[in-house]
Amino acid sequence: MSSLATKLVIKNIGLLLSGQLEQPILDGDCIVVLNGRISAIGHAKDLDTDNAGTVVDAKGAAVSPGLIDSHVHPVIGDYTPRQQQLSWIDSCLHGGVTTMISAGEVHLPGRPKDIVGLKALAIASQRWYDNFRPSGVKVLAGAPVIEEGMVEEDFKSLSEAGVKLLGEVGLGSVKAGDTAKQMVAWARKYGMQSTIHTGGPSIPGSGLIDKDVVLEADADIIGHINGGHTALPDDQIICLCEQCERGIEIVHNGNERSGLLAMRTAFELGQPERVILGTDSPAGSGVQPLGILRMIAMLSSLGDVAPETVFCFATGNTARMRELDSGMLEVGKSADMIIIDQAQHAPGKDMLESIHQGNLPGLGMTIIDGVVRSERSRNTPPATRMPEIVEK
Ligand SMILES: [Zn+2]
Repeated sequence: MSSLATKLVIKNIGLLLSGQLEQPILDGDCIVVLNGRISAIGHAKDLDTDNAGTVVDAKGAAVSPGLIDSHVHPVIGDYTPRQQQLSWIDSCLHGGVTTMISAGEVHLPGRPKDIVGLKALAIASQRWYDNFRPSGVKVLAGAPVIEEGMVEEDFKSLSEAGVKLLGEVGLGSVKAGDTAKQMVAWARKYGMQSTIHTGGPSIPGSGLIDKDVVLEADADIIGHINGGHTALPDDQIICLCEQCERGIEIVHNGNERSGLLAMRTAFELGQPERVILGTDSPAGSGVQPLGILRMIAMLSSLGDVAPETVFCFATGNTARMRELDSGMLEVGKSADMIIIDQAQHAPGKDMLESIHQGNLPGLGMTIIDGVVRSERSRNTPPATRMPEIVEK
């Protein structure tokens, strides 16, 4: 029976992190998944848990939506030429990341910068990650870096070909606010999301993008508001948060102090729903398999924000802004989830307190589209309570 093969039950859950700021912790101890989507959340005694193809005993550990890295630079398959590294996406899965969003396939050696070439690369990248998910991770890619000379028809044809993202505005020849504004508007008209590079040059060949250019371009996401790697001055970061309503993306490979400033400013404005997280890797700083978990621990501890709230920055906030069908524990959403617990011998009375004190949790299992993709993480500290597949 195919229905048996596609039903997953996770029982004995100790904590349900929803990914939603309105109610970051849910009541219940069980999740039922049918055909890759969450079909019920609650107490096992009230749910139909029979005839499951797979039953996972969470052993009292926590379930969170899979983490979303809003800012990666993939190139092809599970290989990055930037640091000559294989299996970096699989390593990130072992850090709890189940979805990645490309901010441009900029590390491709010999990357075409002529218009027909950059369009071809974007379409090909979108296809090869749509056709091949490394270790099951959803990589949303095909994010062209806009260049001088592009016209409205280019954006229309890219969108029609399935390209739904722009790479970081500012990494190509378009660095003036007025040109960027026109192209971002064309992209938006045809249903493509945009991100802008913010801050100083990241690597030789890129340039400074200051607050005036960011505000004029009006991209959907203020990409790495804390710089990638060097940030804008504090007053410009505050100004960006205050003077527009676009996404405030904080990345691992940026200035941590500036990231805290951006987060605090979002809270002061009463707009925490604008905060999303990324790594901006692979990059000169390398690949950070635990980058999103490290951001959660850093922002929660140094920023003194409840961890269950910071988890929303890496899950539900990103999903809503990026229009994904994952990132939340909610009936109907894609069953992309991680099972985590307090790391062995880490301080704190429980996992949330331990994270609030700056410690990473241990990852025990990842699930994408209702399928178990990995068990005990090879990268995080070991979890105190390890989930187990009890029926298969
Ligand atoms: Zn950048």
